[in-house]
Amino acid sequence: MTSTTTGTTSAALDALELALSGELVRPGHAEFEEARRVWNGMIDLRPAAIARCASTADVTETVLVAARTGLPLAVRGGGHNVAGFGTVDGGIVVDLSPLNGVVVDPATRRARVGGGATLRDLDAATQAHGLVVPAGVVSETGVAGLTLSGGLGWLRRKWGLTCDNLVGAELVTAAGEILRVDAETDPELLWGLRGGGGNFGVVTELEFEAHPLGPEVFFAFTLFPLEHARGVLAEHERIVLAAGDDVSTIAVLGHVPPLDDFPAEIHEAPFVAVLGVYAGPAGEGELALQPLRELAEPLADLSGRMPFVDVQQVYDPDYPAGHRYYWKSANLPALPAVAVDVLVEQVRRAPSKHSTIDVWLNGGAIAGVAEGATAFSGRGGRYVVNPEANWEDPADDAANVAWARHVLAALEEHASGGAYLNFPGFLEEGQALVRASHGANYERLARLKARLDPGNLFRRNANVEPAGAARPGS
Ligand SMILES: Cc1cc2nc3c(=O)[nH]c(=O)nc-3n(C[C@H](O)[C@H](O)[C@H](O)COP(=O)(O)OP(=O)(O)OC[C@H]3O[C@@H](n4cnc5c(N)ncnc54)[C@H](O)[C@@H]3O)c2cc1C
Repeated sequence: MTSTTTGTTSAALDALELALSGELVRPGHAEFEEARRVWNGMIDLRPAAIARCASTADVTETVLVAARTGLPLAVRGGGHNVAGFGTVDGGIVVDLSPLNGVVVDPATRRARVGGGATLRDLDAATQAHGLVVPAGVVSETGVAGLTLSGGLGWLRRKWGLTCDNLVGAELVTAAGEILRVDAETDPELLWGLRGGGGNFGVVTELEFEAHPLGPEVFFAFTLFPLEHARGVLAEHERIVLAAGDDVSTIAVLGHVPPLDDFPAEIHEAPFVAVLGVYAGPAGEGELALQPLRELAEPLADLSGRMPFVDVQQVYDPDYPAGHRYYWKSANLPALPAVAVDVLVEQVRRAPSKHSTIDVWLNGGAIAGVAEGATAFSGRGGRYVVNPEANWEDPADDAANVAWARHVLAALEEHASGGAYLNFPGFLEEGQALVRASHGANYERLARLKARLDPGNLFRRNANVEPAGAARPGS
């Protein structure tokens, strides 16, 4: 970069600072160190500026400065992306955290959600009216990032992916245009926002259909000794599929954390656990989920009735901000006993006792939407399996990263290709993984990208290249 360009860039950032109703945080600002950080402590990048956008106009100003200066642009909703897409070295961050309002209309059962809202914001506002928007399972996750690439949570088999409940959005394009998108105004863009990631612009507001639930639900959370994994996972599948779409679960393989919630004598014991929610009255849920608590003699059973907002925070203590994380994801059409053996062997080998392998049994309402009806691909797949390396000491980085990669490689012969794109920690597989994960939808996404963002300004994401763009070396 020449000194003239540097001067031009710096003048553009000075002007942006004056134009914003929110704040521009640059190196030297008292809050810069905190503001540059995202949830994953592995990500250690230094943006040139972080624009805390307090309005759609702030977003437009920031996007236009990035486009004019050529500085790389990152868009941050909740900052939870494991690969650190919510920040960028030497570039500009559109930080949407001030835009975290949620407005619920109980009459129409619609929720309008700011582009920087977290699941905690969403759940608090919807549950105040006895409603839910199906989302993820950790309350600090951003609604926008989660929705744009799918959204798997405790209610997915009943009401589908979070993106299946998205009915509209406000979006700032790479040209700085503000679009109001719904099924009438721009059905193709709504299609793309339902699973195509942050490729098309900055979403300043999402509008969802909500459903009646709560305030109390039944939550199953039973841990069994790891040696029972084969039987537990086979029976779990049989019971969930027989129970119908009201039951959604996650099975987890890991080691019991040394927390007061668990008896001291089982701390660090290897386990296979089944966690689940029934999307209906707590009493019905208790009956429906009971068989999942009896899959073997349990190590511990923490199941019970609880407010849905508390269920949404059960996992929070397991994922503190600033720890180190490296995750992978695989689609598995089935989970035969030999694949379970792989999971058991790999979890025993994990260098960190905080690491887990999470098994999401999908189907239900996810599979009820036609492949191609939204940008989200792979709806017919039965399992998403995620090895999650979670640890604290930077000295252990190499061993933990190697472990997650190794688990993925060990699962390869059982996998159908692609991944759930919200989970992988580093998309070192790059375009190949993004293409494989979008499957037959990729080319349509690339055409939409070419219309909305031909210069690929929004590329710090699971990137879809604009159709017709020259590829390096071509
Ligand atoms: C602890 C933890 C638990 C999780 N649990 C679940 C779960 O239960 N279910 C599930 O499906 N996923 C889950 N995830 C994955 C999660 O969905 C992704 O990490 C997602 O990217 C987080 O969105 P975010 O807004 O917090 O992230 P960010 O890092 O802010 O952004 C992620 C991506 O989305 C884009 N983006 C974010 N906001 C906007 C916006 N307003 N407009 C345009 N683009 C935007 C960003 O540019 C970036 O590419 C979890 C992740 C973590 C770390």
